[in-house]
Amino acid sequence: MIHYSCDRCRRSIESDELRYVVRLEIDASIGDGMCMDEWEDRDHLTEVGQILDDAESLHDDLIGPDIHERRKFDLCPECYRKYVRNPLGCEIASPVEFSDN
Ligand SMILES: [Zn+2]
Repeated sequence: MIHYSCDRCRRSIESDELRYVVRLEIDASIGDGMCMDEWEDRDHLTEVGQILDDAESLHDDLIGPDIHERRKFDLCPECYRKYVRNPLGCEIASPVEFSDN
């Protein structure tokens, strides 16, 4: 039997309980928003290679092996509600307190 647990609060999610699956797909892009996969399909490999060389030296930590990333999270209903309010984890300027109790 597959057992799920919430990736946010770590509590186990019962089999009869609603489970929310969050899938994140991240592509590094440059310029007009083309992703690297599309670039590679074009006939500008040399040019792209040059740009990538330049970019790598400038932003080695930004454009590296993490060009494409997929992540998957299981969330319990409570954590899902908190997550959708602030999916990017931004600092909330004027926090509104919600009582969970
Ligand atoms: Zn949770």
